Amino acid sequence: MRVKSFFYLCNMNLTKYIRRASHEVRIGATIIGGNHPIAVQSMTNTATANVEASVAQIERIADAGAPIVRLTAQGKKEGEALADIVAGVRRDGYPTAIVADIHFVPEIASIAAESVDKVRINPGNYRTSGGELEALIAKCRKRGVALRIGVNHGSLAKHIIDRLGDTPAGMVESAMEFLRICVRENFNQVVVSMKSSNTRVMVHAYRLLVEAMEREGMAFPIHLGVTEAGNGIEGRIKSAVGIGALLADGVGDTIRVSLTEAPENEVPVAQMLVEHFQNRDGEFQVKHPEKYSPFEYRRRTSAPIVAHSEITDEYIVIDATSGNPTAEWRAAILNREDNAPVVIRRKYEGSAEEVALHTAADMGQLLLDGLADGVWIDAPQIAEEELHNIELVILQAARARFSHTEYIACPSCGRTLYNIEQALAEIKARTSHLKGLKIGVMGCIVNGPGEMADADYGYVGAGAGRISLYKGKECVERNIPQEEALEHLIELIKANGDWQEPI
Ligand code: SF4
Repeated sequence: MRVKSFFYLCNMNLTKYIRRASHEVRIGATIIGGNHPIAVQSMTNTATANVEASVAQIERIADAGAPIVRLTAQGKKEGEALADIVAGVRRDGYPTAIVADIHFVPEIASIAAESVDKVRINPGNYRTSGGELEALIAKCRKRGVALRIGVNHGSLAKHIIDRLGDTPAGMVESAMEFLRICVRENFNQVVVSMKSSNTRVMVHAYRLLVEAMEREGMAFPIHLGVTEAGNGIEGRIKSAVGIGALLADGVGDTIRVSLTEAPENEVPVAQMLVEHFQNRDGEFQVKHPEKYSPFEYRRRTSAPIVAHSEITDEYIVIDATSGNPTAEWRAAILNREDNAPVVIRRKYEGSAEEVALHTAADMGQLLLDGLADGVWIDAPQIAEEELHNIELVILQAARARFSHTEYIACPSCGRTLYNIEQALAEIKARTSHLKGLKIGVMGCIVNGPGEMADADYGYVGAGAGRISLYKGKECVERNIPQEEALEHLIELIKANGDWQEPI
């Protein structure tokens, strides 16, 4: 049975927390995988060619507590600046591991490998044929540079989409093609990731990847992240839902929380998530493992109830009290013989941010897997309205119920040539009452349109202070000055009949 083989093969089980076994990978002064702690990381959003600004931002991120920092290197100028950036950071006494993010140009990966500690490539725009990857591996091996095979749901290669579609299985095959070459070349200093802005796709893709690697005897460490999570409480909760669901499975050796904010803000959020999963005690027997699949959304059949019904025994509230609430709820739900709807509840201490992160990380998996029908956070120290909003945001982040406009906003990087933080805040202020819409707010025209997934409308950086607008995947207005772009976006939404006046 598939579910048993997943947990057996991966040295995990449904009943308790066991961290997935992976081999060690050295990234400069930091080692991930094996028994090493889960490392947190972030990415700069300065222009990489601006050495001084990039060094200063890396140091701010390092001061916030991240031992690994990534920079985009989209062209030769940026690739060559990396050596000066590494030198600047070392001169200032920081051992921070520096990672280059390469998308389209293999030559830049090769330049980067001469100075950085790790190179990330996207298999969606890198070829497996012609010896490109073998040449990069040779270069990495020479200097002890690690590699990340970083798959993005929004930028799979055409041959993968033609064969497997834009699916978790396609994402896994995209990584496996590259990992097999690494194995053939006897190069194991490789980390792998499967990011998506859709938390359900992301979680199922990572679990499928774990199974695929186990089947082929691979134990590469895993980098976790949700892309385009946005900012504020929504961005934090969306990241916690996706990353938390996998950390609860024992999967993940390094994490990045992507926020459309100053990158140093990402670090404490990531640290809070890692700490949350440090002690997962408790063992819970599951009588019906066959009712569960870790690889697909399978909504548990439950009887419908009328919203706000006063007949409270129409649904069951399951309280988790152990140190491993996710496994405790999962076992309790799978062990039920009836089809009563289930609401999961737990008491949480701490500030609103801690409660939001911890509940999203614990409860998200039950929603992503289709097991729970509702969430109930017991935290009397938080105002009721705020708590209710956290519950709604968790439901939306786990794609269980859509009650707000969804913003698919990238964290920005050295490719972003406009003020995305300000733009996102202004767009939210004007459009957050539009229920059921997805609006992409992306930093660059190169990766933005592909990676804003299934957004209804897109606001995408097209050049210095310039924006292009999208309706679905189609670009409908190009190069609008940023100051005018929000009004154009609203006009576009109106012209397509999706606008409502705020109440
Ligand atoms: S979409 Fe955003 S994060 Fe991704 S490459 Fe473009 S600017 Fe950078």
